[in-house]
Amino acid sequence: MSLPQRIEGLRARIHRACEAAGRDPGTVELLPVSKKQPLALIREAADLGFSRFGENYVQEGADKATALPELSFALLGPLQRNKARPALQHFTEIQSLDRPELAERLRRLAEELGVIRPVWIQVDLWDEATKLGGCTGADLPTLIEALGNDARLPLRGLMAIPPPEDEGAFAQMAALRDRLQQDLGRSLRLSMGMSDDLEAAIAAGTDQIRIGTAFFGERTR
Ligand SMILES: *Cc1c(COP(=O)(O)O)cnc(C)c1O
Repeated sequence: MSLPQRIEGLRARIHRACEAAGRDPGTVELLPVSKKQPLALIREAADLGFSRFGENYVQEGADKATALPELSFALLGPLQRNKARPALQHFTEIQSLDRPELAERLRRLAEELGVIRPVWIQVDLWDEATKLGGCTGADLPTLIEALGNDARLPLRGLMAIPPPEDEGAFAQMAALRDRLQQDLGRSLRLSMGMSDDLEAAIAAGTDQIRIGTAFFGERTR
């Protein structure tokens, strides 16, 4: 299947899911995830109008951002302290912020580098089930405090990778987002839903879906 065909099929899925949920498809942002996909395919997607992509690995994303300076990349994968500097240099957004020490390090470096990088807090309410990183519900207040309303790291929202077998997980995230919005008095976005579960995420009210294989096809590298 060609890239335009795959994207057309994906758009049809998104439209059907929105229709079923009574949502306007314009309220669901599609973030293509280009990890382990070749530059040529990302260029092809760019020619079709996409300019922002998600990447999981700092080095891979940095290489792609350097090769494709007209595009922007969000970091979705776990971030080690010692990769914080290249992450801020090459990614326009960090979606995998999950601990206070990392927030403090990013704040120091963002100031030093003179950059503004929107962040999303990766939440894991299911702990043992996933082990993909993420802040627990109990640790969330400490992490938000560590961010300290820093204008260089504006908090965009919450990102999650719920375990596939947990049917209530997306609704749990939506409820957490609503509570937090009330507590903080500002709006937060939800990034959840991937190739296999975007319909359930849309039904639960996600603002952004992160799509790899259903957009680009099987990962090749
Ligand atoms: C790989 C990945 C995706 C996309 O996964 P697909 O199942 O290929 O759509 C989305 N989010 C994160 C954090 C990922 O690591």
